[in-house]
Amino acid sequence: MNQSFGQCSLFLHPKKYSSLDMPSVVSELKNIKLISNAIKIRDKHFYIGEKFLDYVVYMGCAPNIQFKESPDNEKFCFIKIHHHDQNQLIVSKTQIKSPQCPECKKTIKNWQDKITDTTLFCEHCDTTANIENCNWRKMGGFSNLFIEITDIFPKEAIPQPFLLDKLSKITQTDWVYFYSCH
Ligand SMILES: [Zn+2]
Repeated sequence: MNQSFGQCSLFLHPKKYSSLDMPSVVSELKNIKLISNAIKIRDKHFYIGEKFLDYVVYMGCAPNIQFKESPDNEKFCFIKIHHHDQNQLIVSKTQIKSPQCPECKKTIKNWQDKITDTTLFCEHCDTTANIENCNWRKMGGFSNLFIEITDIFPKEAIPQPFLLDKLSKITQTDWVYFYSCH
């Protein structure tokens, strides 16, 4: 099932640059029980917290989600925190959707040829837009802070609005989500 997607994750991120440092992010996410202990050896990887299943709701028949590694289970659901000095673009490598221009709302085809570190050019309306203002259609996002929840196919699990609200309070900026597969 879903072979064409490859390995997918759900990503949550603030819409604007967050100046919160990594130790603060970790302690805030532990406070709201989204994450629990760090997984040893692998840096910035965490087991899910006890409120995880309230925050992220799996759709349809509950899949057999594994939250701990075991000898016969290499794939399991855990949380990675990506924290960068500069905003980065993460886009799905499979099931790619072209972004939409924030001005004319048209799809920007071959966007890879029209992108800089911070902007994307739309030939339909001759606009140079900021990457974060483009609509990445829930298959990409631009931020310096991402919470990645591994082993979730697109739309298989949905973050609840009250989780996004809690994250917004932590960083003082709105949060959104997308899926990415590779
Ligand atoms: Zn445009």
